[in-house]
Amino acid sequence: MKSSEVPLIKLTTPATFVALTLVIAVIAQPQTAVWRPPAKRSDALKVLVVTGGHDYDASFYSLFEGYDDLSAVVNPHPSAFQNDFRKRVEVLVLYDSIQELEPDKQRNLREFVESGKGLVVLHHAICDSVTWPWWYQDVVGGRWLFQPDAGKPATTYKHDEDILARPVGQHPITRGISSFRIWDETYKGLWISPAVKVLLETDHPGSDGPLVWISPYEKSRVVYIQLGHDRNAHLNPHYRSLVRNAILWSAGRLK
Ligand SMILES: [Zn+2]
Repeated sequence: MKSSEVPLIKLTTPATFVALTLVIAVIAQPQTAVWRPPAKRSDALKVLVVTGGHDYDASFYSLFEGYDDLSAVVNPHPSAFQNDFRKRVEVLVLYDSIQELEPDKQRNLREFVESGKGLVVLHHAICDSVTWPWWYQDVVGGRWLFQPDAGKPATTYKHDEDILARPVGQHPITRGISSFRIWDETYKGLWISPAVKVLLETDHPGSDGPLVWISPYEKSRVVYIQLGHDRNAHLNPHYRSLVRNAILWSAGRLK
């Protein structure tokens, strides 16, 4: 056999033929094809996530991924609240920690909340706007005490605690969630309005009892979730359900 015949004989074997055909097909594919993730639903909920003033694990973003009915955008301080965002946002999720906003940002935030949209306040965002009584008394129903106030000592925190959380009563936000353990940070000594409705609580000695509540604010639906310090919480399936349910409920999509 002449040496030039060897490749031709090998090419007649089926496996080689198939492999070569695939190589040719890949090379011939037009280079205009771009991979894209599955499309969101046309009615996906428009969520604005505001961060800034406090560090956090990047695992936080995973709370908004993998759902075709949530379309989330992150806008950190100082650009958050610079414009009227009522038309482009249905639910505002706060994971920021800004003790005092400029008057124009207060106005934009207030107009959003008064327009009947949803508001979900997470973890350290309880430190937001602590000098704005309308915000912490009427809207959120709680606040961090940076100093002792009205006979109450300053709020304290403790990292890396084993917390047993227990649903209180029945509510769409805790539907399908029974008592669960979570490795997270506790807060103790928040000011909490007596008018809030508690949905999740704990007996942990380093924590206040209420872990999740809805505020009595009537113009929009407001949820506070104390849990959520780091990836131990962000990736906890019970926590993920709580945050997702709170977002949907605040938008009126969870009955
Ligand atoms: Zn924290």
